[in-house]
Amino acid sequence: MRPAIAGPLIENLKSKIENSADPVLTLRDLASWSHPGVSLAVLGHPIGHSISPPMHNATLAELARTDPRFAGWKYFRFDVPPADLSDALKLLHAKKFRGLNLTLPHKVLAFDQVAAVDDSARPVGAVNTLLRTDHGWLGHNTDGYGLATALRETLGCKLAGAHVILLGAGGAARGAAVECLQQRCASLSLANRTRENLDALLALLAPLAGGVPVRGFAPDAPPVDLPAGAVVINATSAGLHETDSAPIDLQRLPRPASVYDMIYNPSRTRLLRQAESLGLPWANGLAMLVHQGAKALEIWTGVAATRLAPTMQTAATRALASN
Ligand code: NDP
Repeated sequence: MRPAIAGPLIENLKSKIENSADPVLTLRDLASWSHPGVSLAVLGHPIGHSISPPMHNATLAELARTDPRFAGWKYFRFDVPPADLSDALKLLHAKKFRGLNLTLPHKVLAFDQVAAVDDSARPVGAVNTLLRTDHGWLGHNTDGYGLATALRETLGCKLAGAHVILLGAGGAARGAAVECLQQRCASLSLANRTRENLDALLALLAPLAGGVPVRGFAPDAPPVDLPAGAVVINATSAGLHETDSAPIDLQRLPRPASVYDMIYNPSRTRLLRQAESLGLPWANGLAMLVHQGAKALEIWTGVAATRLAPTMQTAATRALASN
C-alpha cells in the first residue's frame, strides 16, 4: 500500500524539477522518484555550488542530438550529509540510477561502502565515480586522469619524468600524489601546513614510490635543495576565499617550470597571481574538473572522454560565469 504522504511528495518533486534546471534534491525526493529516463547524480554536502549538473546535462543533451540512446538521460544533484551516505547509496541503487559522482565529504567514506573498486581507485583509497552493477556499486577514481590530462592540456606538462612539488595532504593531494607516482615522476616533494597530516600521507605513499624519491617539508621552510624546473601543484583549499593567503611563497622555491592550482573558483588565486607576476606559466583547476567529469561520463555512456570534454568545457565556463 502506498504511504499517505506519497501524493504531496510527488507534487513537491515535480515542482522542484519544473522550477529549476538543476534543483538541489534530498533523499526524501527519492521516495517518489519517477524519472522515466536514465538517471545520474552527484552527491555532496553542501552541493548547491557544484557546476557538475550543468556540465553533464549540457553534454548529455549534445549526445542526444545525434544519438537517440541518450535521449532522457539526466544528471541530478543530491544534498546528502555523511551520516546518510550509506542509505543514499542503497536507495539510489534500488532506484536504478546508472551512475553517481561523489564530492566532498564522501570520496573516502564511500570507498568502504561500495561492492568493488577499480584499479584507478584502490591505491588512492577514495572513489569519485560509481557505476551501477547488479551486485552493487563499482567505484572508480577519475581525479588522477583529470589532473594528468589538465596538466598536459593547459601547461604542456607530462608527469612522467617531471619533478613535482605538491601542496596539501588531504584527499585531492592523495589522489594527485598517487597519479604522480604511477606515471613515474622524477621526484615528489610534498608540503603541508599540518605536519601530522603530511606524515600520514608520506607513510601511505611509501609502498607506492617504487624508487621515486618522495619527501615532505613545511611550506614556510622549503629545503634549499628542492629541484629547479618543477611543476608546483596546489591541492590545498588555501585560495578558495579571496582573503586566504597563498599556500606557499613561490619566490622561496628554486624557479619552477609552471604552477597548477586545483582551485577554479576564484579563477585566479593569490598563488596564481604570484606565478603570473613571476612570469611563470600557470593554470587553474577548471580543466581538471572538466576532464575528471568527461572520464566519469565515459564510464557511464561508453563514449570516449576526449569526445565529451569540449562540450563540458564550454558548459562549465558558462556555468561559472553565471554563478
Ligand atoms: P581536504 O579537506 O581533504 O584537504 C584540505 C587540504 O588543504 C589539507 O592539506 C589542508 O591542510 C589544506 N589547507 C586547508 N586550508 C588551508 C590554509 N588556509 N592554508 C594552508 N593549507 C590549507 O580537501 P581536498 O583535498 O578534497 O580538496 C583540496 C582542494 O582541491 C579544494 O580546494 C578542492 O576544491 C580542490 N579540488 C579540485 C578538483 C578539481 O577537479 N579541480 C578536484 C578535487 C579537489 P591541513 O592538513 O593543514 O589541514
